[in-house]
Amino acid sequence: MRRALLLSLCVACACTPNAVPPRPAPVSGPAPQGLPVAPDASAAPSANALSDPPPPAGDGAAAANPSEDGADPEDDAPADAPETPYQDGGIDDEEPDAPRADAAAPPAAMPPPTDPLLQLSDAEIRARAKKDPASLGSLSLGAPAAGGLYNGVQMQNGDHYQLVDAGASWGTRETVDDLLRVVAKIYAQHPDAPPLSIGHLSAHHGGPLSPHRSHQSGRDVDIGYYYAGGQTAWYARATADNLDRALSWTLVRALLTETDAEYIFIARSVQKLLKEHALAAGEDPAWLDTVFQYGSANPNAIIRHVHGHDTHLHVRFFNPVAEELGRRALPFLPERKLVERREEEGLAPYRVHKGETISYLARKFNTTVDAIRRANRLKSQRLVAGRTYLVPQKIVVQHSRRLTAPPRVAVPPRRLPPKG
Ligand SMILES: [Zn+2]
Repeated sequence: MRRALLLSLCVACACTPNAVPPRPAPVSGPAPQGLPVAPDASAAPSANALSDPPPPAGDGAAAANPSEDGADPEDDAPADAPETPYQDGGIDDEEPDAPRADAAAPPAAMPPPTDPLLQLSDAEIRARAKKDPASLGSLSLGAPAAGGLYNGVQMQNGDHYQLVDAGASWGTRETVDDLLRVVAKIYAQHPDAPPLSIGHLSAHHGGPLSPHRSHQSGRDVDIGYYYAGGQTAWYARATADNLDRALSWTLVRALLTETDAEYIFIARSVQKLLKEHALAAGEDPAWLDTVFQYGSANPNAIIRHVHGHDTHLHVRFFNPVAEELGRRALPFLPERKLVERREEEGLAPYRVHKGETISYLARKFNTTVDAIRRANRLKSQRLVAGRTYLVPQKIVVQHSRRLTAPPRVAVPPRRLPPKG
């Protein structure tokens, strides 16, 4: 079994080999400062997995979309998903295959901002960032897969929903309000629905949150589906047999109509069930085609297939205020480094106990006898009990990087169903 150890290592990039701090315990109220950290595009090669969606591809974006034939590799996946998926180290989410073209570039004339905070001048933002950063409200910094959260708000458990992990329930004010509005909408229509399961939002200060690539800037949320028989489950694989289509569609519909959802990641197999249900329930087919990727050729769909999202959906909200204010305030924030942690091949010290041989160590740390010999310049295979050797293994390395502001994003008009 591979072990992940923390170790001081010198890596070529701006590396801060500090111990990885534990996730902060849940606390109420806004998060004052201390920014998390994440990689940027100039990161070392292994940071590629964390990269953001490609830049706006214009009308070429459609080419990257997967086929709509419904053949889905995850359909072969075992049904026994782990019950505590957030502890198994797997990656929960990927980035969409192509960015939404309607959000990629600000229109020539942006609508005038309605939130008073967006009317602040740069000088006013700078003064507040120095003297009273809390007065700027929640700021979403950087990108979802390389970002941070400033003045985040911690979601608390409520009557109609339950948090899977209260320690990772931080978001911007807008994200938390979006969720509460969606929950209220669902339970106004279905007062007897079981509690909605809400998984990770972001960490206290955003930044990397295992096992996700995104969830870094206070705008991403994992949400459970509703299952037949009023069961509340988390990370159960949704199928034609167990998905409560009516309640789950109410959830997805509320995300579309009550919030500015940038993306909703839902596995194709589940999209099929929901879209068929929505059609049968009389929803407008043309509207469904604009929002679902399944069964439409729309490269601009909000609901996208991303592998793994048959056990939960993932929503990324646009935050018109927190994104724009975060972009403008970033240069003035006292601390704008992000810390990225990742596993790399490295050497960790190990003190050999009596009876432990070099081949035992090789097995224990998933390496080879030769690699251990090379790392310690051993002429023989003999180890001395009580002596410390360097063992090649996966180690967690912390890098810090300067956070960069993304380009300005235009929040497109909400796609609403036709009235009638
Ligand atoms: Zn997610």
